[in-house]
Parts: sequence; C-alpha cells; structure tokens
Amino acid sequence: MAKYVMITGASSGIGYATAKAFAKRGYNVIVLARRTEKLEQLKEEILEINPEADVVLISSDLSKDGEPVRVYDLVKGYDIETWINNAGLGNGGNLADAEIAHNTRMLRVNVEALGLFSAMFVADNLDREGAQLINISSAGGYWEFPNCAFYCGTKFFVSSLTEEIDADMQRDGHRLRAKVMAPNATATEFEQACHESDTPFDYSKMQGRYNTADEMAEYIWQLHEGDKTVGTISMDGKLELGDRRLPHFG
Ligand code: NAP
Repeated sequence: MAKYVMITGASSGIGYATAKAFAKRGYNVIVLARRTEKLEQLKEEILEINPEADVVLISSDLSKDGEPVRVYDLVKGYDIETWINNAGLGNGGNLADAEIAHNTRMLRVNVEALGLFSAMFVADNLDREGAQLINISSAGGYWEFPNCAFYCGTKFFVSSLTEEIDADMQRDGHRLRAKVMAPNATATEFEQACHESDTPFDYSKMQGRYNTADEMAEYIWQLHEGDKTVGTISMDGKLELGDRRLPHFG
C-alpha cells in the first residue's frame, strides 16, 4: 500500500509543488495550511496526476497554542514515511521595525511547530525502515544576511536541529534519517508574506537569480532519494548535496 508524506505549508510555493512531486511518485499526501481553499485546489491537481492518491487536508494555524500536538494526534494513524516541515515565514525589515506579533508568528511556526513535529515524528519512527524527516531551512540558516537577524536565527535553529538529529540517528544505529534543505531565493508567496502585502512580489524585477518552486520540489525529491544530510543551492541555482555543515563537537 502507498505510504504517506506529510507536508506542512502546502497551500503555496515550495510545499504546494513538493506535494505534487511526491504524488507523482505514487505517495499519498497529507497537506496542511491555514488556507483550505488552496489545499482543495492542490487536491484537484494531485488527483489529475495520480487518481489513486489519498489526499488528506488539514486546516491548521501553526502559530496557535497547542496546534502541533493536536495536528500530530490527528495524523498519527496514517502510515507516514516522510514528514516534511516546510511551513515558514520571514520578516520584512530590520529587527527594530518588526512587529512583535509578526515575530511571534515566525517563532511559533519556524521554530516551535517545526521543533515539536520533529521531536514527535523522530520519537515514533526511530527504527522504521525508510523513515525520513525533511526540514526546510534557508540559505539564511547557514549564512547571516543583512537586516535578517530574526529570520536567520529561526532558520539556524532548523539547520542545527536537523543536522544534529541525523548525526544522533547515525551514531546510535537508528534507521530514521533527518535531512535539511536550504533554499535560496525562490519565486513563491514568501516575499509577499514577509511584508504582509496584498500585492504579489514580482521576482522578475529582483536583482540576482531565483529558483522556481517546481525546481525546489525536485531538489527536495533528490535530497529524499539520496544519502546526504544537507541540500544547499549554488550561486547558479543548482542543488548541492553534502554532509553536515555546522561546526560540531566530537
Ligand atoms: P510561501 O509560498 O509563502 O509558503 C509558505 C507556506 O507556509 C504556505 O503554505 C502557508 O500557508 C504556510 N504557513 C505560513 N504560516 C502558517 C501558519 N501560521 N500555519 C500554517 N501554515 C502556515 O513560501 P515558500 O517560499 O514556499 O516557503 C516554504 C519554506 O521555504 C519556508 O519555510 C521558507 O522559510 C523557506 N524558504 C523560502 C525561500 C524563498 O525565497 N521563497 C528561501 C529560503 C527558504 P497558509 O498561508 O495557507 O497558512
């Protein structure tokens, strides 16, 4: 029977494209976001690609108290082989200008929800053959960018947590793998959400290059299929797979 992949933040951008990339390879998918109408549209597109797929929609605001545990309990009965923590948001300016409410949401979604989902999924799947936790970090989870201290801080948490889980799994002989993908600029709703704007961000006017969400979804699939822990994106937008990158003890 087809296994399930769980993807948070699948109503747009990288998560939306990744749900289709996994469905195309025969997975059943569980997709989570606040905007259920977008998830309904995703479900229709998935069923065109793979009419046999079971597509489960979860409506959740991960910035709300207790949501990670409620959602985990809700999906625990499914045979989830791969859990992708993709939901995330950035900030639209320097720390002094940022609203406390926006930073609170960022902490709760990027750090708290991702961290709790990671811990619960790892605890339940330590020795399951093929189990994978994939966390979406950022280039800002490996390098500091100007005026981006808060977002980069949340993404350094993602990179560090995931690399360390994978090192622990391998050292202790467990089967589960934890992997981290660090996108560079990708044309999604991310920039618009950073600024809480009603106007879509025009990536074509941006300086420098960017990837498409479909490219990132294929890179996430390649990370999933390979043996490496970390996926980063080169200056020319290509995937680079490698072992843990952060300095570590021992
Ligand atoms: P996006 O198009 O804005 O997608 C973000 C997703 O997260 C949406 O599905 C959104 O769904 C969900 N989300 C946001 N807040 C949420 C909440 N409170 N509860 C539940 N879901 C929530 O951006 P994206 O670029 O695809 O981002 C995906 C990941 O890639 C993020 O972790 C981001 O940090 C990372 N990343 C992106 C870029 C880039 O340039 N795009 C670069 C580096 C890293 P709803 O709004 O429907 O809830």
